[in-house]
Amino acid sequence: MSDTQRIAENLKTVQSALPESVLLVAVSKTHPAEAIEAAYACGHRHFGENKVQEMVDKAAELPKDICWHLIGHLQRNKVKYIIDFVHLIHGVDSEKLLAEINKRAEQAERRVDILLQVHIAEEESKFGFGIEELTNWLTAEVVSKYPAVRIRGLMGMATFTDDEGQIKTEFGRLHDCFQALKKGLFSEDIHFDTLSMGMSGDYPNAVECGSTLVRVGSKIFGAREYK
Ligand SMILES: *Cc1c(COP(=O)(O)O)cnc(C)c1O
Repeated sequence: MSDTQRIAENLKTVQSALPESVLLVAVSKTHPAEAIEAAYACGHRHFGENKVQEMVDKAAELPKDICWHLIGHLQRNKVKYIIDFVHLIHGVDSEKLLAEINKRAEQAERRVDILLQVHIAEEESKFGFGIEELTNWLTAEVVSKYPAVRIRGLMGMATFTDDEGQIKTEFGRLHDCFQALKKGLFSEDIHFDTLSMGMSGDYPNAVECGSTLVRVGSKIFGAREYK
């Protein structure tokens, strides 16, 4: 089987096991443009990258109707490079970054969709707001300060572990936080609709816990080689 065929098969396998209401973002980081083209040829349009430069280079080379998701940590000084074309920024983890995205979006005369990243894992190294920190900080006043940004929902990563109980507890917490915001602060906002959780190793659990968007890389494109 060629790489193209393998990607098409994997994509079909992952997609067919997902409820229709869950969006599949194919995480193409470190893989070449040809890998994306293989999935694109199957009709897939949502791709995720975690590095700004890599996403900019691929977007320049690939079809314009691709929806690019920035899933990794975003530095403020790099927002300007993606503001014109990014579909959804998943990793917004500070008000400073939110303010920078708002400023650049205003300059670009567009409204940019973002997710607030929440830290749910036990590992220390991952980015994101604590749940309590987020709910204390996020008010109608904060939301109204950044009119060029549209907060679409939350994103989080569970601990990298085989313990499914722990994974479900963590995803469950994020889902509860999402629901509380949806029923509270965002109850008038139909666009607060996205809960990004689940990767190759844990997306079935994430879907069970109410995920609306999964970010799946290696299950579709194969293992990554880091240079
Ligand atoms: C790399 C990455 C993924 C995809 O990881 P896989 O395990 O290959 O599916 C998902 N989300 C984020 C934030 C990532 O950095």
